[in-house]
Amino acid sequence: MAETSPVVRFAPSPTGRIHIGNARTALFNFLHAKKHGGRFVLRYDDTDRARSIKEFADGIAIDLEWLGVVPDFIARQSERIALYDAAATRLREAGYLYACYETEEELEYRRRRQIAQHRAPVYDRAALKLTAEDRAKLESEDRKPHWRFKLEHSTEIWTDGVRGDVSIDTRSLSDPVLIRADGSYLYTLPSVVDDIDMGITDIIRGEDHVTNTAVQIQLFHALDAKPPRFAHHNLLTLPSGEGLSKRLGHLSLSTLREEGYEPSAVAALSVLVGTSHNVEPVASLDELMGKVDLADISHSPAKFDPAELDALNARTLHMLPFANVAERLAVLGVNKGADAFWRAVHGNLNRLEDAREWWEVVSNNDTFSSDDPDLVAASIAHLPSEPWDGETWSKFTKAVAIATGKKGRALYHPLRLALTGREQGPELKALLPLIGRARARKRLEAASR
Ligand code: GLU
Repeated sequence: MAETSPVVRFAPSPTGRIHIGNARTALFNFLHAKKHGGRFVLRYDDTDRARSIKEFADGIAIDLEWLGVVPDFIARQSERIALYDAAATRLREAGYLYACYETEEELEYRRRRQIAQHRAPVYDRAALKLTAEDRAKLESEDRKPHWRFKLEHSTEIWTDGVRGDVSIDTRSLSDPVLIRADGSYLYTLPSVVDDIDMGITDIIRGEDHVTNTAVQIQLFHALDAKPPRFAHHNLLTLPSGEGLSKRLGHLSLSTLREEGYEPSAVAALSVLVGTSHNVEPVASLDELMGKVDLADISHSPAKFDPAELDALNARTLHMLPFANVAERLAVLGVNKGADAFWRAVHGNLNRLEDAREWWEVVSNNDTFSSDDPDLVAASIAHLPSEPWDGETWSKFTKAVAIATGKKGRALYHPLRLALTGREQGPELKALLPLIGRARARKRLEAASR
């Protein structure tokens, strides 16, 4: 049978803004789908009504768009409850769900006792032993049941797209609660129901979900569906080894965007770190797509180092073509000759907004002083006539060298200070034509005094 093209989903719960580790999951899904001509679904895992917030969902869409991740389809689980109700009824009728009445405190007490006795804190299935009368009595006391899925005790085995063959013994797991006492759904059932309904072919997510996969495979079978392929990627940690959390606002995509990082640098780092590839800048997600496969992901955690992002951001700017930044440069006020300006300065930027400073240098009327006013004064007579091009600086400085006998730093540094007011910066060969003769002359005159 021909391979069908993949359908993948990214399923964030809108309980906070997404961080660079969530971006890793979103990108692995998106790039996998695009590489194989498939589809990417953004599915908000928002059945937890108390914690899901619309502003977070809207924010996540903005964050993904900034990265360049464009969903083919967007779904909200809160709008699909009827499907979950139907699946729950089916499961209940087929005997897969059982009603439990323990309170959180009772369960917690039992867990503590099991741990004290060096036993695994696995739910003991006490509720399975309740008779119809027991249940009737509990309900007459107004106790509402929550519902667990009765796991088949077996070893679930799958070939993971990242980790190879994985097996989980379900005897080590508690029967998962699928439905809370108030009738609302926990993550597991809606997730599997939607994966079936949306024809998801590949579930690509963090390795914190490996255990869930064993449960979910059984749930797929219970609902008469073939489980999709699974791939669990390693998680990003901080250099200290600490995991990322949505509460760590400083690594949220919205913060990184506000701090002026390039989306393609954030994407490249979040995808390439912790794989067999070097972390290299890319100009686009298409380029990133060509680089990485699920099988290239390492099995150990991937360390995210903010200093590496700074370095990668600079390297990204140094290679980005003008077309990729034209709009944002216009927002910074860079207009006339922006293309030549970009070619002149991009090799010196750490953040795109640093371009504004150089735009000021080539376009405003500021004048500066220099550490060698005499040299600067002597240079004025040698300013070539316009038009100016990439050779002008060299013609000019050669003439000044002959006239003054200065060379090297003693020649270039005073002129750089006079023309730009800065010790360092982009090559003057490229800047000088942008500064133009009239402005250059005024600056040299001012710095001669
Ligand atoms: N909402 C879950 C999470 O963000 C989704 C997990 C999954 O992809 O199945 O971890």
